[in-house]
Amino acid sequence: MSTAGFNSQNGTGTGQTYTNGPSQNPVALQQPPGVGYGMNHQPAYNPMQAKVLGPPNPALYASGPHQPVPPGPQLGSYPPPPAQPLLTRPQIGVLPSHTPPQSASPGPGPRQAQATPPAQATPPPPAVTSTSYYTGPPAWQYAAPRGPAPNHVNPAAAAPSHSSAQPPGPGAPPTSIHGYPQPGTAPPPMNPPPPHTYQPNRPAYGPPPTAPPARPPGATGTPPPPKVDAQCWGAASSARPPTEPDTQEGDVECPGDVAGNGPQAPNSYNHVDNRMAGAAQPGPPGRHLGHYPSLPPGYQNTLAPPPSSLHPALQAATQPYTQGPQPYQQPGGPGPDQLSPSMAAMSLQSGTPEALRVVNLLQERNLLPPAPVPAPTPCLTQDLQKLNCSPEVFRCTLTSIPQTQSLLNKAKLPLGLLLHPFKDLSQLPVVTSSTIVRCRSCRTYINPFVSFLDQRRWKCNLCYRVNDVPEEFMYNPVSRSYGEPHKRPEVQNATIEFIAPSEYMLRPPQPAVYLFVLDVSHNAVETGYLSVFCQSLLDNINALPGDSRTKVGFITFDSTIHFYNLQEGLSQPQMLIVSDIEDIFLPTPDSLLVNLNECKELVQDLLKSLPNLFEKTMETQSALGSALQAAFKLLSPTGGRMSVFQTQLPNLGVGALQSREDPNQRASAKDVQHLSPATDFYKKLALDCSGQQVAVDLFLLSAQYCDLASLGCISRFSAGSVYYYPSYHHQHNPAQVERFQRDLKRYLTRKIGFEAVMRIRCTKGLSIHTFHGNFFVRSTDLLSLPNVNPDAGFAVQMSIEENLDDMQVVSFQAALLYTSSKGERRIRVHTMCLPVVSSLSDVFAGADVQAVTGLLACMAVDRSVTSSLSDARDAMTNAAIDSLSSYRQSALTIQQPGLLAPACLRLFPLYILALLKQKAFRTGTSTRLDERVFAMYQLKYQPLAFAMLMIHPALYRLDDLSDEGALNINERTIPQPRVLQLSVEKLSREGAFLMDAGLVMYLWIGRNCHQNFLSQVLGVSSYAAVPEKLCLLPELDTAESQRTRALVSWLRDQRPFFPSLHIIRDESQLKPHFMQNMIEDRTESALSYYEFLLHLQQQISK
Ligand SMILES: [Zn+2]
Repeated sequence: MSTAGFNSQNGTGTGQTYTNGPSQNPVALQQPPGVGYGMNHQPAYNPMQAKVLGPPNPALYASGPHQPVPPGPQLGSYPPPPAQPLLTRPQIGVLPSHTPPQSASPGPGPRQAQATPPAQATPPPPAVTSTSYYTGPPAWQYAAPRGPAPNHVNPAAAAPSHSSAQPPGPGAPPTSIHGYPQPGTAPPPMNPPPPHTYQPNRPAYGPPPTAPPARPPGATGTPPPPKVDAQCWGAASSARPPTEPDTQEGDVECPGDVAGNGPQAPNSYNHVDNRMAGAAQPGPPGRHLGHYPSLPPGYQNTLAPPPSSLHPALQAATQPYTQGPQPYQQPGGPGPDQLSPSMAAMSLQSGTPEALRVVNLLQERNLLPPAPVPAPTPCLTQDLQKLNCSPEVFRCTLTSIPQTQSLLNKAKLPLGLLLHPFKDLSQLPVVTSSTIVRCRSCRTYINPFVSFLDQRRWKCNLCYRVNDVPEEFMYNPVSRSYGEPHKRPEVQNATIEFIAPSEYMLRPPQPAVYLFVLDVSHNAVETGYLSVFCQSLLDNINALPGDSRTKVGFITFDSTIHFYNLQEGLSQPQMLIVSDIEDIFLPTPDSLLVNLNECKELVQDLLKSLPNLFEKTMETQSALGSALQAAFKLLSPTGGRMSVFQTQLPNLGVGALQSREDPNQRASAKDVQHLSPATDFYKKLALDCSGQQVAVDLFLLSAQYCDLASLGCISRFSAGSVYYYPSYHHQHNPAQVERFQRDLKRYLTRKIGFEAVMRIRCTKGLSIHTFHGNFFVRSTDLLSLPNVNPDAGFAVQMSIEENLDDMQVVSFQAALLYTSSKGERRIRVHTMCLPVVSSLSDVFAGADVQAVTGLLACMAVDRSVTSSLSDARDAMTNAAIDSLSSYRQSALTIQQPGLLAPACLRLFPLYILALLKQKAFRTGTSTRLDERVFAMYQLKYQPLAFAMLMIHPALYRLDDLSDEGALNINERTIPQPRVLQLSVEKLSREGAFLMDAGLVMYLWIGRNCHQNFLSQVLGVSSYAAVPEKLCLLPELDTAESQRTRALVSWLRDQRPFFPSLHIIRDESQLKPHFMQNMIEDRTESALSYYEFLLHLQQQISK
């Protein structure tokens, strides 16, 4: 496998491209409305709504190793600014002064000394009134003056509505598109959307496409009722007529796609690209790699075969599918109708698979498998499972779906999906096609789990509608043969990406636009972050994802807002200061966001001079809110990414905040206050940003409380990311500096998708009702993602609205429509198939304990904010009690003493205890409010693999590493030490132990650590010689050093953020942090694992 799995693959996407030849029908056709999966659902079991039963006072228990943990050290704060101002700035009035940076070392008072703009190409100082700056739209706009209430629905993004049900509108003449002969079935209604539905509140962006969406001649279907695309901002979203229960908002993901009966290009196969032949191959063989973030090589189709412990009955059940699941010749494809006999044989009732082996938790001491916990394999036939989506992308808490909501309620486990939809993939089939085949009814993309009734018809696996196979789809670009629709890449890959033909778009996809908003107050300068940022951007400026249209801009702020005119032709960047922060306006709005290619030298000049420009500032105030408003105005016309760097509590102007943290309450065992925002300013602004396709990423670098609970809303609702570097200081905290540098490099160069939306569909009868992650929910099942990045995870909760009695399998499909940094509209589709079961035992047998834990963590975060931390903690404990209780009462046939769990859930109590001790939810241990809130954000936003490391870190012994069982990757040998239980019992004074807790790693050196390790790995002569603050492993030319570094760097390579490494001695200041992760041990404020089990048993036997 590639260890560079997270390397950015910007813009161009990965994998090979399939094409079906030139698009001949560049118009999206209308599709009838889909089946509505409304939001009404039966009340689902929601452990987060459970009450009572908090964990008991640990003092009640005398057993278990006592591991007192002192409160965490108070990390340093930095001296306040000196009383004597080093630099005075004159009060600058409303009139912005033009202050070009002069040099790398400005003289005293450089900023007031340059009130006179340079002569060349300098626009006159802007007039006072802000409105005067809005005389024209920014240059790249498509002649679309924006109204006061601009509706920035991106027509391209909204374009799925093209294919959604829209009645022909006036002015949308049905353009003649190839009438598609419909053998055997009536042609679908294809109705062009009226143009006004794209731009309900604003003029068009530009010239409409030459060929408007059209209705094929002869289309006789009843025009669907007016249906307003959910993507449209504004009043349009209520237009779904209640009289049409089958009506669903049209498909929003794809501007260019057409349904199965869409326009055809039947004779255009000359251009078929056959390069895809290799793409469907499985990746390199290998064991399931990885430590929590297990990243199997090659990703595609590399799922392990069903476990060898599979019951013979299950193996027999695979027999009918040895000929492959999709051959249309075999009408018994995997469609639900055809699966019954074989799937019935898969019932787990007849045997006891490993997942249901009864475990008495009180007796089983060694629960952890030696290697990272793998995702369970759904109980499907091998042929279906071989095609299934990778669990790294798409995972369900229950890999066997209960037939009814009441059965789900009995299991007392949450039902939900965990997604990592934009993950960097080493192999990704990419299809260029003028015909993207989708269900006419529910808009599902054709996928490996549909069934072909015959060569010309396929049945949707979500709504069961029978659709026609379009002529173009009859050609298989893989084999260059005709008549094998079931072998098309779309039907062979559960993860696939489509390139939507650009002709389908109403306006060009937006360019990549990056705006950096930088805190330059005294506090910021003191941390020294600015030079790291500037250098990092200088280093990576050519690797920013984008194309020739890419734009960049910069805003700095303290008590005033500073803009930078970077217009081509200037000899140096020109600084424009706006001190009227109450009514922010943009001076020279056309020259603040500039084309990166054309103005690169000016940008580089600015980055070189910025750190020095403010080095003597004494300005301590922070008008962050105004800076954000200014940035929003600047980005509104195009959309894009806003990167905000903040080092203190904003204390001036709009959005000003006050400290709400009482340091004396950090270790309180009571409820934690102020987890919710103090103001809705940041959320409102985020929603404005979301409406304009702007995402805000927040980098918080501070030693002091910054009220992340309030500030974080700016990213949370705009689909941004939050990065937090507590106690960042360029000298005092080298580990944070390195982390910041590495994170920045990844951040600046990783893939990015703009103006994105994601919709998750599931088989009729299932309903999605709650989403977790950073986004704005635009309609019932549509997430607005102004930016999407490969490191973002999402979770959703589901309920079962209609009994799934007659179904053997159900499917889930996530479709992500985005604009690549190269300006391509793309659709990434993931489809997962899972079996439906009717017995409680089978539900338990399919439980995915990590996914359950991850979803519970998301739910508990919500609960903490909306109710209280103690409620959330109780609810998590109750989740373990309820499910094990239900298992004991309803699924166990033979009663026996002890605390019993099915093997697949044996880690559940441990993970719940780990959550209770996690920074987000712990009580009684000193925890800074911002760090707690950040942990909560991470639990909701990190893909499951990384969230699990934050919940239950991995512990390895390093002083006896060997090559036994090591991985060989690119000629590197990666040792694979056993994962140890998180207990001091597992430590040894003679050893050295690595704890990987996701964002941070600790290498703990025992007091009597082997001399060999000290000298060969750390390069020191004795234990006492280990430096107090060591965060780098020296590069020694010894086998031990190479092994250790190989392991650490391999662990780091597998995640998108850079975990700091702290090498600590037994008396180190950081030891308490290390010890706090010893989850199985007792602390002064929390139960040991054994005590927790006793508590669960007590509650269950009540
Ligand atoms: Zn369908």
